[in-house]
Amino acid sequence: MSESAEVGTAAGAGPTDTDWAAALAAVRGLPADARVQLICHVNPDGDALGTMLGFGLGLRRLGVRQLRATFPGPPVLPEPFRWLPGLELLVGQDDAYPEPDLVICFDVASESRLGDLADRLDKAGTALVLDHHASNTRFGDLHLVDPHAAATSVVAQELLDRLGVPLDAEIATCFYVALSTDTGSFRFEATTPAVHRLAARLLATGIRPGDISRRIFDTRPFGAVRLFGEVMLRARLEPAAAAGRGLVWTYATREDLARHDQPAYVLEALIDSVRCTAEADVSCVVKQVDAAEWAVSLRSKGAVDVSAVAVALGGGGHRFAAGFTGRGTVDEVVDRIRGELAGALLPG
Ligand code: AMP
Ligand code: MN
Ligand code: MN
Repeated sequence: MSESAEVGTAAGAGPTDTDWAAALAAVRGLPADARVQLICHVNPDGDALGTMLGFGLGLRRLGVRQLRATFPGPPVLPEPFRWLPGLELLVGQDDAYPEPDLVICFDVASESRLGDLADRLDKAGTALVLDHHASNTRFGDLHLVDPHAAATSVVAQELLDRLGVPLDAEIATCFYVALSTDTGSFRFEATTPAVHRLAARLLATGIRPGDISRRIFDTRPFGAVRLFGEVMLRARLEPAAAAGRGLVWTYATREDLARHDQPAYVLEALIDSVRCTAEADVSCVVKQVDAAEWAVSLRSKGAVDVSAVAVALGGGGHRFAAGFTGRGTVDEVVDRIRGELAGALLPG
């Protein structure tokens, strides 16, 4: 679930005045009967879902009536998110508007993260992209992309401010989920004074951070607890990898999931247990998707640019939190990662 995006100090300016003006005009200029389609990235995390639903609720407050939210892939929402405000906006990808007047993408760095919904970019009247990945490929018509933002919700909250939509507890709950997910509960480097000021505004609406955090981060079925135990036991430490900075990695198969009767999304939290390892800068979890297909999560404590590793292997992400889709066996996938690590060392 956790994207755990430690944004670092990515180069690249945020949105210009012209970008903000164009985005405002696109929303304010919508006719009364406009169809608006919200889309977040495949395998949505707290930032993707929270930002999309919070912004959707904001559009509702503005009077947008024909409004749907979706994400690519099977319409299965991870259990920890099944209480979020705004879920009534959510439809499966097959029920997304075929030709919306406006598409808004959330936390999506590139078209490939839109899966089967990528065709909406051409079919929509306008495609607006809200994001915070430095690697964003600017695949829409209008872009509000701020690589310095700790979460996409930071950009969305500013757009709602500029649209004059007041924060309420429902919107704030969604944005708090987004912000706390991508800052690792306000622990990562991206946790600036501005982040805490935004969080203060969210909390001032009366939301309960203890309840929210427990539901999102600290609750999992007993089967998942036992599954994590097994998967952690097979973790491997390679102190020599990444030019001596160290690599720790583990993997989980579909059979592991079946044995413990767990859905795939429970594995999203696994990287947070693996990356604790003191002896390794880089951590990695390889999660089986298909017979020879693996979803790979990479994290770094600061010595390695794991987004460079991920990009070299066909994926993307942030400097210290990235991922890609691996093919072949686990050993082949990890071998390819080892091969990229030394070349991705950061100076200093
Ligand atoms: P995860 O490890 O799935 O939490 O993802 C960490 C970061 O890597 C997020 O910013 C994702 O957007 C990015 N990411 C993960 N998987 C992929 C992928 N297959 N392609 C591009 N970016 C990815
Ligand atoms: Mn995300
Ligand atoms: Mn994000």
